[in-house]
Amino acid sequence: MNESAGKKIQRLMVANRGEIACRIISTAKKMGITTIAVYSDVDKKAKHVAMADEAILIGKAPAQDSYLNIPKIIEAAKQAGAEAIHPGYGFLSENARFAEACQSNDIIFIGPTAEAMLAMSSKSEAKAIMEKANVPLIPGYHGADNSTEKLLDIAGQISYPVILKAALGGGGKGMRIVNSAPEMPEAIAGAKRESKAAFGDDHLLIEKYLTQPRHIEIQVFADQAGNTIYLSDRDCSIQRRHQKIVEEAPAPGLSAELRQAMGQAAVDAAKAIGYVGAGTVEFLLDSNEQFYFMEMNTRLQVEHPVTELITRQDLVEWQIKIAEGSTLSLKQEDIIHRGHAIEVRIYAEDPEQNFIPSSGQIHFLQEPLTYQNDQICIRLDSGIRQGDSVTSYYDPILAKLIVWAEDRERATHELSSTLSDYRLIGPETNIPYLQRVIQHPEFKKTQLNTHFIDQYKAELE
Ligand code: ADP
Repeated sequence: MNESAGKKIQRLMVANRGEIACRIISTAKKMGITTIAVYSDVDKKAKHVAMADEAILIGKAPAQDSYLNIPKIIEAAKQAGAEAIHPGYGFLSENARFAEACQSNDIIFIGPTAEAMLAMSSKSEAKAIMEKANVPLIPGYHGADNSTEKLLDIAGQISYPVILKAALGGGGKGMRIVNSAPEMPEAIAGAKRESKAAFGDDHLLIEKYLTQPRHIEIQVFADQAGNTIYLSDRDCSIQRRHQKIVEEAPAPGLSAELRQAMGQAAVDAAKAIGYVGAGTVEFLLDSNEQFYFMEMNTRLQVEHPVTELITRQDLVEWQIKIAEGSTLSLKQEDIIHRGHAIEVRIYAEDPEQNFIPSSGQIHFLQEPLTYQNDQICIRLDSGIRQGDSVTSYYDPILAKLIVWAEDRERATHELSSTLSDYRLIGPETNIPYLQRVIQHPEFKKTQLNTHFIDQYKAELE
């Protein structure tokens, strides 16, 4: 980074909890920045609170009263004299009103502008912008006419199966896969109903449903001067109910040309909205090596560590420096990646009971040893300590285990053996399930697609 521009951030508030708050605090400490945690009343003894230099209680356990409470967080930031807020992922990280509230209170929001966030928060608006920027789109329709006739007409043109999505959707809500015209009226009504209930708006878009795509995403970074680069790609095809559980970088088996074309499309996407900071452009890749824009996430992703390990960069440090006004010091040609990294998300949930979140006290915790040498890197981004209570108020993610090695086979092997060293007595975890996924012969053969988990359900559960 070019150090000349802007003002150094000295006091940083982290408006989040769990592993991501801890991870951000680690980098801030390394940079000599004073960190301020926020917490709800059930998180008083949480790890992120203990790690931060200072901590402020912002409200009761329900997220609406604490981690999602904009006035409370702004008030806490002012009280603590924080010059900047890092929102992490989830909670307020993609909330344009929060970014605006920071700005109007002279607090730096570590993320893109509110306008860029708003533009990407509607799937149909995002697609309209990407179409103009010549970023490839999945065949479909994202216009204003939402009548059943119009949607039927488009479905006939692009041919079944099709997918209906809530324009303002997220988290897989308001989505319906439709296999034939007679199913359409009911699917449209159902998707509209769900979308209205979840997002207060029933506008739908329609796309061709790709039967066995891979989910490939590109990490982009842009500075305030408009320099925009990409930092390799990730494969996040291993998903349960549209939630990623295993992620890896680089995406296996992509040719150099395809990798470069996707990277360039992601940069074009970011430039089309004047993007600043860390962002992720998500694509679906079909079996003919055609890739299509799906959406852009305007925040740091859960799976960012796999990119950090193959590029040997600290993306949170990049975010902070860009927010300070520094320009990117690396050019596209300076970005190299080496080896292979895989991440698994460790959740407090019970695979034996349909993955219901599991809560309760962590009576015993022995985390695997982390280390790094020329051949292996074992990294654990953890948000918990022995004695903590896992509650049902928040996302059940406990930690992420990330392993880097020279190649995918070695990384998978080390990941599996390290995962077996993770000991937790208390809530149930998905560790046995993760082991079955990464040891599955088709995973080892790199047969990745977004239906992997459904395809092998019987063997995995
Ligand atoms: P959300 O924002 O609700 O998570 P996305 O549009 O990101 O929805 O899609 C979530 C997941 O659904 C994708 O990762 C992919 O697995 C699947 N998906 C979405 N669109 C399509 C499509 N057109 N064809 C096949 N699968 C799709």
